[in-house]
Amino acid sequence: MDIGFVGLGNMGAAMAANLIAAGHTVTAYNRSHDKVEALEGARPARTVADACTGEVVVSMLADDHAVEAVTFGADGILAALPRSAVHVSCSTISVALAERLTVAHAEAGQQFAAAPVFGRPEAARAAKLFVVAAAEPEVLRTIEPILDAVGQRTFVVGSEPKAANLVKLSGNFLIASVIETLGEAMALVSKAGVDKEQYLEILTSTLFGAPVYQTYGGLVAREEFEPAGFAATLGLKDIRLVLEAGEELRVPLPVASLLRDRFLTLLATGGGELDWSAMGALASWEAGGAGPIR
Ligand code: NAP
Repeated sequence: MDIGFVGLGNMGAAMAANLIAAGHTVTAYNRSHDKVEALEGARPARTVADACTGEVVVSMLADDHAVEAVTFGADGILAALPRSAVHVSCSTISVALAERLTVAHAEAGQQFAAAPVFGRPEAARAAKLFVVAAAEPEVLRTIEPILDAVGQRTFVVGSEPKAANLVKLSGNFLIASVIETLGEAMALVSKAGVDKEQYLEILTSTLFGAPVYQTYGGLVAREEFEPAGFAATLGLKDIRLVLEAGEELRVPLPVASLLRDRFLTLLATGGGELDWSAMGALASWEAGGAGPIR
């Protein structure tokens, strides 16, 4: 397929590389052009519009602000994409923006699909992402080869794109809860002299064998917060979006409110560029141990 790709950050660069490896023609755009030059096998695009000449354009950008800028800006996706072509948004964005994109693309005679992903950059490089997708069935059929090339499995959650974004945000809320509670539990046992790696082995070999405990337990136990696979600033963004969705749907999320403050503490103390797992070091810091910032 002839695919445009907008956003070559930690995730997007790996996903675009896998589309090229799967035999697709990829025309890539990134705000900082050096990342376009670093992507082997891609056709370089100088503007967003240059990446919008095919049947599909995929965007993988930091946040709502970035997606708004590349979609609604002059020469953005909305203005440049041919009628009937599809914009696939893989970024973790708000439910409200997904709704706005659905309407705007429909009004322009274009199609819109939300396909946010679970999995860190290592999973993206290995084409092992889990994709949560929502769009009209014929749109999903069109983009199936793209989703298959970047992920190990796609879960379809309906025809309204915003549903996929809500599911993705709820998942990140759960991951953040695990990071916080792992951090508290590890602060407790390690202050009493128990080895954190051994403690993690007990957890993951018994009742807590899930990937989320293995991945984040390892990062918290080993205090591996740099380089960030997923920056704390992005973690705060997702908790804010979860709270926004809860407010809109009138669903109180008291733990999410607490997590928002934990991320604020991490950012206020200089940890915004660390991996979001650094939130798991706050509890040991408050207990008199080392904090996330060295
Ligand atoms: P990242 O490495 O920070 O990359 C962000 C991308 O967005 C870069 O291409 C950046 O361009 C671009 N960008 C930011 N602001 C922009 C603006 N105003 N206008 C145009 N482009 C802009 O982020 P990432 O880790 O790849 O994450 C991308 C998305 O995937 C986020 O929504 C994130 O929540 C989600 N996600 C991440 C992970 C993970 O583990 N990392 C996992 C699942 C989902 P520049 O290169 O010019 O800065």
